Amino acid sequence: MAEQQYDLAVIGGGSGGLAAAQRAAEYGARVFLAEGARLGGTCVNVGCVPKKIMWYAAELAHQISDARGYGFEVSASGHDFAALKVARDAYVRRLNDIYASNLARRGVEWQKGVARLTGPNEIVIDGRELRARRVLIATGGEPMRPPIAGAELALTSDDFFAMSERPEHVAIIGAGYIAVELAGVLRSLGARVTLVIRGAQVLRHFDSMIAETVTAQLLADGVALVPDSEVTAIEGGDQGGFSLQLRGGAGVGGFDSVMLAIGRSPASRNLGLEAIGVALDADGHVLTDEWQATNVEGVFALGDVTGRAPLTPVAIAAGRRLADRLFGGRPERRLDYEHIASVVFAHPPVGTVGLSEADARARHGDAVKVYEAGFLPMYHALTERKARARMKLVVLGEEERIIGCHVVGAGADEMLQGFAVAIRMGATKRDFDDTVAIHPTSAEELVTMR
Ligand code: FAD
Ligand code: NDP
Repeated sequence: MAEQQYDLAVIGGGSGGLAAAQRAAEYGARVFLAEGARLGGTCVNVGCVPKKIMWYAAELAHQISDARGYGFEVSASGHDFAALKVARDAYVRRLNDIYASNLARRGVEWQKGVARLTGPNEIVIDGRELRARRVLIATGGEPMRPPIAGAELALTSDDFFAMSERPEHVAIIGAGYIAVELAGVLRSLGARVTLVIRGAQVLRHFDSMIAETVTAQLLADGVALVPDSEVTAIEGGDQGGFSLQLRGGAGVGGFDSVMLAIGRSPASRNLGLEAIGVALDADGHVLTDEWQATNVEGVFALGDVTGRAPLTPVAIAAGRRLADRLFGGRPERRLDYEHIASVVFAHPPVGTVGLSEADARARHGDAVKVYEAGFLPMYHALTERKARARMKLVVLGEEERIIGCHVVGAGADEMLQGFAVAIRMGATKRDFDDTVAIHPTSAEELVTMR
């Protein structure tokens, strides 16, 4: 017999679940939240946050060697990976505590435990049954393992954040966000890194300019690339290290660890969804409409478990808008999944919003035009390492409305947010041209392209 009646029960205390729960409670809703692991979810514990700390460390490594060009007599005499992990973990624990006090301050009841649905309005957590008028599934996802021999021998990004020691020679399988980011960090901190990819370039689902530039920079930084290769088995694990068997018979070896970064699968199993008839796609993502509603009345889903733009700010925005709509008297509030900017924290970083040139041409044909710039940022005039910057604007039609903006280069991560606002507002190339540049910066190139 269910003991309590809530307005909203949220399963998952990650980016999306926390955002929805807190916003709903601010409107006076009675909210319960279940979290099976640590508050903050993937982003805070094994994603964006510890990753960005590692990215800063890697950037510092580059800057220390760049400093010689500016007259400093410095060199990095080793790096204490274990000490960095201790400091990073302490920071993450502080964030976990802040999330707990934020929930308490807003009157959200939460319990640590794995929850599942037993009905559209009922969840069970550690044998405790709770009723809620609405249930939100915000359970996120987990690293995917391919169905190949030895897949269980490989580490994932979760294991990367548990490492107290830097691997000497790591093979990373994958070509997306995580493979590129972790390859960059590990290489900058001194590891030998071999990236095994199925195509010719990393990030091949991004604009071709980005794929080309990031691949070239990884090579320039000493990452070994094994292109056009499909791993069919992972072997070893004893004193001899690990090796990878590739389709066609070849192999590569000599690794002390192998890491998988081939995408993430939704955490939708064991939630009782099938029993109550919640529709999933073939990969297990929870299907939702534009209002984050599933096909079952009263059951909603958002964030990575839905597979739509799996990024933290997307989960947060969807969660807040859902709460605005359900409890804040704002019936029109929903997330528009167009024009979502994102950054790949490579070295230098990548910032991108809107359509790639190839996608724009496939959609709009000859009505598409591109403007491009490529240059060596002034910072590198005096450094030994040269990381070129490249930029591309994809524009549409006579009015040249900007439908894609792609930047790789120092500062791209901080640059794109403002440009994303302009593009979302319908900016044209003319608006960019009419904006007076800020000099000397890299960003000024975006408003001076011809
Ligand atoms: P999550 O944050 O994954 O939260 C889901 C929560 O649900 C988890 O805490 C889980 O323990 C809990 N849960 C699952 N099942 C149950 C259950 N049955 N009962 C109770 N609790 C349950 N995004 C960015 O925007 N920028 C970045 O720089 C970035 N870097 C990333 C780096 C890495 C290595 C990874 C893996 C991801 C990164 N992401 C980044 C993606 C980002 O972390 C996710 O998009 C975001 O966390 C999704 O939020 P969510 O609320 O959907 O799920
Ligand atoms: P991604 O979707 O970014 O990339 C995975 C890539 O791995 C694919 O694009 C594919 O590239 C390759 N791949 C897929 N299957 C296989 C396979 N069986 N064998 C070998 N390679 C394969 O996934 P990630 O795991 O890197 O990251 C998951 C998500 O987390 C991202 O999509 C992103 O939304 C989020 N994230 C965001 C970050 C950020 O905002 N900075 C950072 C990290 C994660 P190809 O087709 O070229 O082989």
